[in-house]
This record gives sequence, C-alpha cells and structure tokens, in this order.
Amino acid sequence: MRLVLLGPPGAGKGTQASNIVEKYGIPHISTGDIFRANIKEGTALGQEAKSYMDKGLLVPDALVVSIVKDRLLKDDCKQGFLLDGFPRTVNQAEALDSELEKMGINLDRVINIDADADILIERAVGRRICKECGATYHIKFNPPKVEGICDKDNGVLYQRDDDVEETVSTRIGVYMEQTKPLIEYYNQKCLLLNVDGTQAIDAVFTVISEELDKQLKVDL
Ligand code: ADP
Ligand code: AMP
Ligand code: ZN
Repeated sequence: MRLVLLGPPGAGKGTQASNIVEKYGIPHISTGDIFRANIKEGTALGQEAKSYMDKGLLVPDALVVSIVKDRLLKDDCKQGFLLDGFPRTVNQAEALDSELEKMGINLDRVINIDADADILIERAVGRRICKECGATYHIKFNPPKVEGICDKDNGVLYQRDDDVEETVSTRIGVYMEQTKPLIEYYNQKCLLLNVDGTQAIDAVFTVISEELDKQLKVDL
C-alpha cells in the first residue's frame, strides 16, 4: 500500500504511523524525522533545515522533494510506503505525483487526521520523544510507565525544540495556509480518508485499519 498521512501538527500522524507500518509492513517515511536525524548528526542539510524548523516554518520545497525522491527509490519502498508529513504544499504534492508517474505507481490512500487548534497545542506541547528509538509519548494522554523514560528501551525522553506553544501556533498557521489546500487536492483525486483525530489513539487506529483492510480486499 502506498499511503500519505496528512494533518496539522499534533494531530497524531506519527503515533498512527507507528501502528500502521507495524500492521501493514511498509516503511515509515517521516520528513520531520529525516531532518531531526540530520540535525543530530550535524550534517549541512540538518543545519539548513533547523533554521526553518526552529521558527516553525517549512523547509524549502526543493530540499524536501529531493530527499523524498531518493528515499522512494530505495528497495524497501517497492512493496509500498507511508509518507508522514509529506507533502505539505501543493508544489510538493505535484512533485510527488510526477515522481510516482515516472515510477509507474499511484498513491492508494491519503489519510487526513484532523483536530481543533486547542487540542493540537496541548498535544504538541505535552509530546515527549525517546532519544534512542524515537517512540512518541504524551505527558497526559499517553504517558510512559516511568516519567521521562521510554517503556521500550529505557531511553531518556526529550521535548522537541519546536514543541513550545509559540512555535506550535506558528506551525498551525503555516498548516492552515500552505498544507490545508491539500485536502481539496486529494479529495478531487478521490483518495481522501477523513479521520476524526480527537478520538482516543486506539479508536483512531481502528477507523484507519478498518478502511485500509477494505482497501486491501478491493486490491486483491
Ligand atoms: P503529529 O505527528 O501529527 O505531529 P503525534 O503523533 O506526534 O502528532 O502526536 C502529538 C502528541 O499527541 C503526542 O504526544 C502523542 O502521544 C499525542 N497523541 C497522538 N494521538 C493522540 C490521541 N488520539 N489522543 C490523545 N493524544 C494523542
Ligand atoms: P514534523 O516532524 O512533521 O512535525 O515536522 C517538523 C518540521 O520539519 C516542520 O515544522 C518543518 O519545518 C519541517 N518539515 C517536515 N516535513 C516537511 C515538509 N514536507 N516540507 C517542509 N518542511 C517540512
Ligand atoms: Zn525508546
């Protein structure tokens, strides 16, 4: 299955992505994760991306698109993939379409997870991430068993630099202006699955997996 996860910051894309890739055995491609890995390694790409990310702004399209193009050509994408946080502009969506066309493949579904701004801010500000494995927690909605420590590997949890209220508000504004038009873009292509992201984590996953299971039956 070739999937895109769309939605504002804090909607629950990364959380659902972990469940989806585990169930369907496809690689998880998060452009945000790729940038954070580059920042951690101190690469030039990481340095450039960080200057935008810290302000809550989007990294320029050309940079993001070239990273995704390279990633989609890797062998593990032959059976499908889940794009999380890409595309984020109409320009990126058009670039993705033309790349997929060159590869002779299509997207199967675009999963749009949505929630109101007050929920998004509370979620993003309370988000904590494992330094070792990248697992995502929330101090209130999805806390680890031991405060500040990952359940899976005892890694230390940290807060993203861009998960402070002011930057989250900027990111939501950027989403409204530059990313939200993609809902209509993919609606017109009949690819959209709208999911109410205000439900509990498990309930959101149930809706998504029921739809994807149906999709798999149609494809057989
Ligand atoms: P995104 O990738 O869309 O920015 P995340 O999946 O990282 O969002 O989720 C943001 C925060 O909200 C995380 O701390 C996560 O644990 C929490 N979260 C995700 N989905 C839900 C949900 N359905 N209900 C409550 N909290 C959630
Ligand atoms: P995320 O991890 O998806 O919340 O993304 C964190 C930040 O990385 C965003 O606020 C952007 O600065 C940058 N980023 C991630 N994906 C993209 C993208 N597709 N286009 C532009 N910037 C991106
Ligand atoms: Zn961990």
